[in-house]
Amino acid sequence: MGETIFSKIIRKEIPAKIVFESETVLAFRDINPQAPEHILIIPKINDIARVTDIDGNRHSKLLGEMFDAVNTIAKELGIDKDGFRLVINNGENAGQDVEHLHIHMLGGRKMTWPPG
Ligand code: AMP
Repeated sequence: MGETIFSKIIRKEIPAKIVFESETVLAFRDINPQAPEHILIIPKINDIARVTDIDGNRHSKLLGEMFDAVNTIAKELGIDKDGFRLVINNGENAGQDVEHLHIHMLGGRKMTWPPG
């Protein structure tokens, strides 16, 4: 837990294409997009590395704000009607690279199932 590349993005020490920002949540375009729209939604606090660090009592408001951000962004990008996919990779088997909780929001194309 703690410092990752996303901490630097939050502090604006490295550039990112920010699409949404509030007091608690930041969202920016993924540097290696897997769909025409690929946004990462992250909490600004850096003590949730993974889903398994989430404590419902402490984090429920923050998680609600992250999903509110998802819906705001979906409308702004015009993908709310056609649909989009949310992915949270958790740990090694899921291929999580950055140890700072993030929701991948993928849209702008038809998705396939099952995921890889
Ligand atoms: P994950 O594999 O679920 O941990 O996802 C990490 C994501 O962060 C990947 O999709 C990367 O492309 C993305 N990423 C890493 N560094 C940056 C960066 N500096 N700006 C935007 N996205 C990044």
